Amino acid sequence: MLFLIDCDFTLVNIHTHNKAFELVRSHGGGIEPADFIDSTKGRAPLTSVTMDNLDGKDNKYNQLWERVKKANPQLASIGPAGEWKLFIECALEAGHKIAIVSFNAFHMPYFVLRDIIQLQPSILRNPDFCIVSYLPKNTRLANKNEHIATAKHAVRFSGAVDCILIDDSLRNCNEASQAGIVDEFFQVPEGAPAFYEGHIRFMQEKVRAAAMMMPPTIQPQAAPAPSLAS
Ligand SMILES: [Mg+2]
Repeated sequence: MLFLIDCDFTLVNIHTHNKAFELVRSHGGGIEPADFIDSTKGRAPLTSVTMDNLDGKDNKYNQLWERVKKANPQLASIGPAGEWKLFIECALEAGHKIAIVSFNAFHMPYFVLRDIIQLQPSILRNPDFCIVSYLPKNTRLANKNEHIATAKHAVRFSGAVDCILIDDSLRNCNEASQAGIVDEFFQVPEGAPAFYEGHIRFMQEKVRAAAMMMPPTIQPQAAPAPSLAS
């Protein structure tokens, strides 16, 4: 299976793109807006899926993330972080693929996964895992379909197994479903509190059900035929 997971209000309980954008716009914590905002368009630039050098102490996105955390002490995962970590590790181990698909221009999903969910670097760089994080050209008209197509390509999704979107936006869910690019979706309730875990349970159940349908890889040895004693 391929699990496509939204970040803001699905994985975490604040809108990390908007919070980062507010800080940038207001010079929060000494941020220089020109470092992040394309002044000719008055908006954050589109950012790619690259994760190169984001861990560097002098990386501007890493620094912005530290300020977002400081300005939002309530920041937490929706559902226990340990459960998210375990789910992602177990799903990948079982041969499934996971993509984070987010309207986020500041690489916040990467930092959420690194620091809140505490995924190991080996998971973040697993070829069956990817983060597709950028703003669509028109945020009002956009749905997640382009992000989903990019994610499928990044994790080499063959289409042979189910593809499931987990998102708090009903529009994203409906439009992906109507376009036929996901087989199923799970809409996280709007404003879900940090203790909500329905989406994690849903995904765990999918992985469990898939494991039960798998044929056993080691065939039990046939019992030796009883010897015919005369
Ligand atoms: Mg969202």
